Amino acid sequence: MREREYDYRNCSSLFGYAAAVHARSGAICQLCGCGRGERPDFDLWRQLTVEHLIGESQGGHLAKNRLAVTERFPSLSFTVRETLSTRIDAANTITACSFCNSTTSRDRSERSMAELIVGSNSGPEETYLAIEAYATSVLERKRQDVEWKMTSIRSAFERHVLPDLLETRCPFSIEAEKAEPSHFEVGRHFQEQVRDKLQQIFHSISRSTSPSAPRRSCIPSTSPLGPVP
Ligand SMILES: [Zn+2]
Repeated sequence: MREREYDYRNCSSLFGYAAAVHARSGAICQLCGCGRGERPDFDLWRQLTVEHLIGESQGGHLAKNRLAVTERFPSLSFTVRETLSTRIDAANTITACSFCNSTTSRDRSERSMAELIVGSNSGPEETYLAIEAYATSVLERKRQDVEWKMTSIRSAFERHVLPDLLETRCPFSIEAEKAEPSHFEVGRHFQEQVRDKLQQIFHSISRSTSPSAPRRSCIPSTSPLGPVP
């Protein structure tokens, strides 16, 4: 064990800038809804990301939105511009689980943030409201995309993945009472049990993941479970 406690603030995906985004969403993925429930789950929470509805490549990050606000409203004071930029950023950012963030990463909006800000013919408040409405429409489009993909992926999980996972876990029970406080210990214990049987396990689950194609063994040269015997 290291002597110094880890500085959690180094984890920028969860603290600092991200903390405000996750606080607004209640740490619930705004695209698929995972993480809902009365008490936030730590293991899910630490997988959360900040999703920019209008992405970085389209000027959706705060630094670029500040430049656009300055270009569009040069006569406003720094404080008023900063408030406007921050509000626009809040409208453009949501909490997304790592799956949803990844699966929507190629989404491109019809309009960039610079077009929405610099191209606005309205005052600051009307510009903000128009961007908020636009971001909401992007959010809805992404939700529909996630829902469409998730239906198929969940079905494939149930049919092709879950049986193998249950088969792998079955002989190596994880005792519920050992899951707290340190699930790392539980994970290590599980891996130690599995390591000796790795070859047998991978052989037994190397049937097809797809009905049409035989599955190849998925043992990487360096397995996360440790060296393959
Ligand atoms: Zn999600």
